[in-house]
Amino acid sequence: ATPLAIMVGTGRGAQLGVLVRGPEALEDTRDVQVIVLDKTGTVTEGRMALVTASAPDIAAQHSDDAEAALLDAVASVEARSEHPIAQAIADAREGRKRVKGFRNVPGHGVIATVQHVGLAGEAPGPDAANADVLVGARRMFDEVPDAIEQIAAEAESQGRTAIFAGRVPSDDGGVGTGTLATRTRAVAEAVVVVSDTVKPTSASAIRSFRELGLEVVLLTGDNERAAHAVADQVGIDRVIAEVLPGDKADVIRSLQDGGTRVAMVGDGINDAPALAQADLGLAVGTGTDVAREASDLTIVSGDLRAAADAIALSRRTLGTIR
Ligand code: ADP
Ligand code: MG
Repeated sequence: ATPLAIMVGTGRGAQLGVLVRGPEALEDTRDVQVIVLDKTGTVTEGRMALVTASAPDIAAQHSDDAEAALLDAVASVEARSEHPIAQAIADAREGRKRVKGFRNVPGHGVIATVQHVGLAGEAPGPDAANADVLVGARRMFDEVPDAIEQIAAEAESQGRTAIFAGRVPSDDGGVGTGTLATRTRAVAEAVVVVSDTVKPTSASAIRSFRELGLEVVLLTGDNERAAHAVADQVGIDRVIAEVLPGDKADVIRSLQDGGTRVAMVGDGINDAPALAQADLGLAVGTGTDVAREASDLTIVSGDLRAAADAIALSRRTLGTIR
């Protein structure tokens, strides 16, 4: 490639709303065959809003006040987390319970000890014991009662995300001390449904990727059902869901089998290793610095159509100087 053509290409990239790290990035852009899109914050806006929060069995067996107190505990724990789901809960509900020993379990959720919250099945209250409250994905719980499962399944089939909460004794040595992937003690008692919205430009960007001959893959830590619902909305057939943060780069590596050139678009801290592993990493400009630093290109506005334009441009630019 001649330096002039590359500079022209890079300048046009800036006009399209794409920042290009270096000249090599344009060649990588031209050659991609598969484009992997992170779901939350990339295909969707990544701003969650709370839809419902309930603890149906606690309400039925105790009282509405007991249900409210348990949900207050959930909000109090989530007030310590910076996850978009936690933010949605914090925006809707102020947590007033005392919390200590907060721990984040990447790809799973959060845990903290909450004062007077009581144990599974009990009503929280001034006489109740302190306990650990787990808040997060289904994989944190070994039992999800029917009333809760129904609420979650209904929400997920609409592309929403359900998260669960349950209580375990604070002296339960397994909680938070090892990896939660192996824990199997908590019963889900509360369910919180949050929704995110698909970016209005995502479906059109995905159509353009297809027209450029790319295979499009949706990659997410979120559950299978919600992932498929979002994929259907934007026209993606291939979904890889329930991927733990540490495993996203491995997914990219396996897609690269046989020399396939893979691009990855992501926004989060969790996405950085996958962005670095990809032949072409594209960061969404509205995401984290860590994601941008791991990437070759940055889509300034977060509009995925700019990624399609960059691929088309790199083919035109470099196509003429081979
Ligand atoms: P993604 O950004 O792809 O959804 P994450 O790895 O951040 O993936 O999270 C995966 C899943 O873990 C979330 O969908 C959610 O179910 C759960 N989770 C993580 N952090 C929290 C949190 N603070 N509160 C509730 N759930 C959480
Ligand atoms: Mg994300």
